[in-house]
Amino acid sequence: MTALAKAAPHRRGACPGLSAPMPTGDGLLVRLRPIGTVSVAAFANLCAAARQHGNGVVEITARGSIQVRGLSAASAPRFADAIASLGIAAEDGVPVIANALAGLDPDELIDAGTLAADLRRALGATSLPRRLAPKVSVAIDGGGALNLDALSADIRLRAELINGTVALRISVGGDGASATPLGTIMPPDCTDVALRLLEVIAQRGRAARARDILAAEVASFREALSSCPAARVTLARARVPGHDSNPIGTYRLLDGSYARGIGLAFGHAEAATLERLADAAEAAGARGVRIAPGRALIAIGLTRASATAFTAAAESLGFIVRAEDPRRHVIACAGAPICASAHIAARAMAPRIAESAAPYLDGSFKVHVSGCPKGCALAARAALTIVGTAAGCALVANGSARDEPFGVVAADQLPAAIVNAAREVRHV
Ligand code: SF4
Repeated sequence: MTALAKAAPHRRGACPGLSAPMPTGDGLLVRLRPIGTVSVAAFANLCAAARQHGNGVVEITARGSIQVRGLSAASAPRFADAIASLGIAAEDGVPVIANALAGLDPDELIDAGTLAADLRRALGATSLPRRLAPKVSVAIDGGGALNLDALSADIRLRAELINGTVALRISVGGDGASATPLGTIMPPDCTDVALRLLEVIAQRGRAARARDILAAEVASFREALSSCPAARVTLARARVPGHDSNPIGTYRLLDGSYARGIGLAFGHAEAATLERLADAAEAAGARGVRIAPGRALIAIGLTRASATAFTAAAESLGFIVRAEDPRRHVIACAGAPICASAHIAARAMAPRIAESAAPYLDGSFKVHVSGCPKGCALAARAALTIVGTAAGCALVANGSARDEPFGVVAADQLPAAIVNAAREVRHV
C-alpha cells in the first residue's frame, strides 16, 4: 500500500503511477490500482480531480486499474496531491490482483484480499519489486462469483476445494485457461510460495516474464515449489476449468446486502458522467465502490430495490448494465489522436463497430480494434482484430494485432467488411 504520491521513478513499460505520469497523445496519463472498497465520496472526488486537472477522460482497464488522462506537467502534481488527500488505498509495487468482491462474497472459498495484502506486505520487505519487470503480476483468486480466469498473470493462485479442504492451485504464465499448472499448496503457504516463484523470474533478469521462462525451463518453477521447506506442496498437472464470470450483474454479499456491477463502454467515460454515477450510488445507499477487472465498477452495500434503481440510473447515463450488451465484446485501445502510434481512431470507431457487428457479438465472438500492431488493449486472440496500418484497417481472423491479416480495407468500408468477416470467421 502506498501514500500514492510517492512512487518509484518512472521506467518505460512500468505502470504510470501518480508521481510518474506517462506521456501520451492527449497529455500525461496516470494509473491507480485501488485496493478493496473505495468510498463513494472518495471516488466522486477522484473523478472531480480528473475533470479539474486532466482532460476529463477516466478509464477503467481490463485489469481493474483507473487511468486518468490529459494531465499536464503542471497539473499532474496537483492531481496527485488531490488524490493523496482522499485516503484511497492503492498499490504501486508488484501488482497483486485479488477478486473484485474479495472478503464480501459468500461463495468465495477464502478471502483473496487478505492473502493479497499479506503478499504485498512481504514483497515490500524484499528487493523483488526493484528486480522484476514492471508488468510481472500475481493473481490470487479466492473462488466465488467473480473469478480471475480472464486475467493473464505471471503467477496464479486459485482456491479450490480438494477432498473437502481449501487448497490453492498454482499455475504460471497465462490466464486461467493457458497458464501452466505446477501443483497445489495450502493457503498459509501462499506468501512463501509466491515469493519463491517470483524469485525464479527475478533471477532471469530485469525483463523476464514467466511465460518466457516456461518456454525454456518450466522445471525451474517446479524446483522452486518443491524446495519450499515449510510448504505442503502437492505437485499436480490437472486443471479444473473455471466458470465464466462477469462483473455486470447483481450479487448477494456476505452481510445480506447487494452489489451491482456496471461496465464502462470501451473502458472509458467522462469524469463528469462518473460523478453523476457516484451521485446515483450515494442515492442508492451504496457504502462504496470496487473497481473490477473487465472495465467495470461495482457499487457495494445496496438493497435489492436500490440496486435496481442504481442500475436504471447507470443505464440512463450510458453505462453497460447487461452482460450481453454487444459493447462488452468490442475491445478498443485509445487510438488516434490520443495515441501518437495510432493509424486509426480505434476508440472513436468502436461504437459503430459494435453496432455493425451486434448480431454476432454474443460472447463467443469478440472484436478487437487496435490503433497499431502493438495491441495494447488485448494481448490475447480475438475472433476478429482490426489493426490500424499505414495502408488502412488490416483484418485478422482468430488472432492478435500482431498476426498476419487476411485483408486490408479503408475505414469507411469497415462496417460491411466486419459483417462479412464475422460471417466467415463464425463459419470456420
Ligand atoms: S495499440 Fe498502438 S495505437 Fe493503440 S494504444 Fe497501444 S500503441 Fe497506441
